[in-house]
Amino acid sequence: MKTEKSHKLFERAKNVIPGGVNSPVRAFRAVGGNPLFIKRAEGAYLIDEDDNKYIELINSWGPMILGHANTDIENAVCEAVKDSLSFGAPGEREVFMAELITTMIPSIEKVRMVSSGTEATMAAVRLARGYTNRAKIIKFEGCYHGHGDSFLIAAGSGAITLGVPDSPGVTQGVANDTLTAPFNNLKAVQDLAAANKGQIAAIIIEPVAGNMGLVVPETGFLQGLRTLCDNEGIVLIFDEVMTGFRLSKGGAQQILNVKPDITTLGKIIGGGMPVGAYGGKKEIMDFVSPAGPVYQAGTLSGNPVAMAAGLAMLNYLNTHPEVYTHLENITARICEGFEKNLKELGIKGTVNKIGSMFTLFFTDQKVKDFETAKTSDTALFGRYFRAMLEEGVYLAPSQYESLFISTAITEELAEKIVNANYKALKAVL
Ligand code: PLP
Repeated sequence: MKTEKSHKLFERAKNVIPGGVNSPVRAFRAVGGNPLFIKRAEGAYLIDEDDNKYIELINSWGPMILGHANTDIENAVCEAVKDSLSFGAPGEREVFMAELITTMIPSIEKVRMVSSGTEATMAAVRLARGYTNRAKIIKFEGCYHGHGDSFLIAAGSGAITLGVPDSPGVTQGVANDTLTAPFNNLKAVQDLAAANKGQIAAIIIEPVAGNMGLVVPETGFLQGLRTLCDNEGIVLIFDEVMTGFRLSKGGAQQILNVKPDITTLGKIIGGGMPVGAYGGKKEIMDFVSPAGPVYQAGTLSGNPVAMAAGLAMLNYLNTHPEVYTHLENITARICEGFEKNLKELGIKGTVNKIGSMFTLFFTDQKVKDFETAKTSDTALFGRYFRAMLEEGVYLAPSQYESLFISTAITEELAEKIVNANYKALKAVL
């Protein structure tokens, strides 16, 4: 495969951008080789600077659920641009957006727009602290909630991929206020809450974890957290930046039937533009400035162009519920194909899936938390990643990520992906 232009750009980039990229996992450190520089994308495909074309399963880390260059979204953006790129004052699209989010996710009664998932989780935790007048939070090992200081403790995603689950630069004071528990271990959380009675402001969790690879909550786990929070006056935050509007119209909370107090959103709500949001019970949200005392603000919050993209995306998903069935069927087909290939070739592997998210872990263990996720053979994953690229399929360049299916993946492409998987697995044996 010719990748000279990407290679040259990477060399230039390394001189002026730390590590040559603007987000760490993009550098391909965990899988070896140089990153590909992408020129454009359409439908299910990424096209790099050397004109190689890949079927892609990252979808910009989640947002592009309708595939790339979706006409509805692009048209909405072009229309909005004509009215100016930013007002810095309220506009009607923000009201439409808040109305749509609160309709689609009933646990959200009021919502505040921000510009990234990280902003949403940072603000949600500050709000929980202000509301409860308590300092500590509980998060789960291997969950990633963006790069806010409080969350870079036993963090997943790029932090674990790059070997810094506890980042230098996070002060001991901040770290002391973040307690961690293993995912799917209710007893451990109950024990932490008992040992820190009256001090826990919030439990924050990815209700379906996507940042240690995909890990699904076991029956009763989230419900157990809900009960614990109710009993102890703790704010339950579901970080649905990844799962919101992806697993269903109402997110993970709808299919798993547990309501949080606060939900954080991002990715899909921006339709590909930089958007985040946090919302929840009216009583809690009214603590946010200027309704209440907890300060949070943003120059580009509720940006009209971003709102237009997000509205086009959410309106489509809201009125086309069949999208979710299609995505689930295609994902099931791919995962079944992968499982069959692994078996046929005698390779140890576990495929976790839910809705349109999945991860192939190179381990024979059941992956239910960070410890079991880490039993994966990451060196084998690196070889598999590169072999898949050779087969024309672009995966997330780390074992500790979920893959995402978009509506642009047809049955025919699903078949191609399964065949590529067979050839790639055979090549790395
Ligand atoms: N929360 C979760 C669950 C995420 O997956 C991410 C990003 O991948 C974030 C928060 C941070 O979002 P952003 O990268 O937009 O800051």
